[in-house]
Amino acid sequence: MESHDKNCIICKKDEDQIPLVKFDYKQTSFWICPQHIPVIIHDPSQLNGLLPDADKFEAV
Ligand SMILES: [Zn+2]
Repeated sequence: MESHDKNCIICKKDEDQIPLVKFDYKQTSFWICPQHIPVIIHDPSQLNGLLPDADKFEAV
């Protein structure tokens, strides 16, 4: 299983700077900070290029 660097996929902050939340997607582990979790929920188009198939996510 591939594991990405342990930093927020959006702002790239690491666990020394901010709490990170791990999530799994397509057999891969990613990390995101609490500040950017709403992006996944409300504005997933920002994840294009960061997560595979992010353009298929539906904003809530
Ligand atoms: Zn972040």
